[in-house]
Amino acid sequence: NKQVILKDYVRGYPKESDMIVTSSTLKLKLPEGSKGVLVKNLYLSCDPYMRGRMSYRDSYVDSFNPASPISGYGVSKVLESGDPNLKEGDLVWGMTGWEEYSILNATQGLFKIHHSDHVPLSYYTGILGMPGMTAYVGFYELCSPKKGEYVYVSAASGAVGQLVGQFAKLLGCYVVGSAGSKEKVDLLKDKFGFDDAFNYKEEPDLDAALKRYFPEGIDIYFENVGGKMLNAVLLNVRNHARIPVCGMISQYNLEKPEGVHNLVQVIVRQVRMEGFVVGDYYHLYPKFLEFIMPDIRQGNIEYVEDIAEGLESGPAALVGLFSGRNVGKQVVVVSRD
Ligand code: NDP
Repeated sequence: NKQVILKDYVRGYPKESDMIVTSSTLKLKLPEGSKGVLVKNLYLSCDPYMRGRMSYRDSYVDSFNPASPISGYGVSKVLESGDPNLKEGDLVWGMTGWEEYSILNATQGLFKIHHSDHVPLSYYTGILGMPGMTAYVGFYELCSPKKGEYVYVSAASGAVGQLVGQFAKLLGCYVVGSAGSKEKVDLLKDKFGFDDAFNYKEEPDLDAALKRYFPEGIDIYFENVGGKMLNAVLLNVRNHARIPVCGMISQYNLEKPEGVHNLVQVIVRQVRMEGFVVGDYYHLYPKFLEFIMPDIRQGNIEYVEDIAEGLESGPAALVGLFSGRNVGKQVVVVSRD
């Protein structure tokens, strides 16, 4: 059973060499009386929150155990089940191990995939899984968006950002996104239909850039990066702006996080900033599927994935999130069936 192991807790930027791919033996059989499942892992999801789990700290998800396989969201096939609601051959998405086969002792967090639609199975790591729910909850549940509003999305070409921008466009908002390369900026404008986009790495003055793209100010800022970007956005918000605080990836590898300035604008402009964790909203998953499936079927929503082949490519794919190597949702294929 091939596995990705974290060698030890990480400080600063994670490196590929912080993990190793090894093999161990696993009896492909559930322990007697188990209520869990034995699964074959097909697709693994690389997500920025996994960086937090590489450190020893108290957070909303547990730290990884060094010397054990890391875990994360994935799509898996059930080989044996001790849960009467799941049977051999069923496909599920949820937390699993970064390994070829896993024994999952609990099934509560697993979602059964009703794979009747002709969508790629890997979509359940992205648009139809946790990142899709994150975009939906952050934008619709937290922002109460309205047609015609000015929406800004950072890390806009990523797993979450590309969807937020497209949701906002479908609603009739004016949408600008930022990303870290020309290729990504082109994708935002040409494939995802953003009204405009810019490369934040080429803007020496983010405040000036935002004033150029939003001369009237920003109604909704979907926060994915934090740091300097948030400081600049706060100088450009309109009255009653909403800022769903989804992530702050620019801060995850810093020993000492950057300060947030300009918070007085939250009062002056009566801004609502609200942090959220998608895990608290999974009761909305059926509603979300009903919402998004028609748009996928009718081709109203595009989804770009960055596919890394094989478990061996997992460590590089995962740490690549923090240098912007991924173009779109980063997926690792362990097996296609
Ligand atoms: P992405 O697919 O967008 O991948 C991460 C991207 O972040 C990179 O490709 C890179 O793109 C960008 N990035 C990396 N470092 C920096 C930096 N220092 N400054 C600015 N941008 C940077 O990831 P996701 O879409 O999966 O996640 C986006 C955000 O949403 C993250 O902050 C994540 O933690 C958060 N999140 C929060 C959830 C919640 O429940 N609250 C759930 C899921 C995600 P580029 O080339 O553009 O720099």
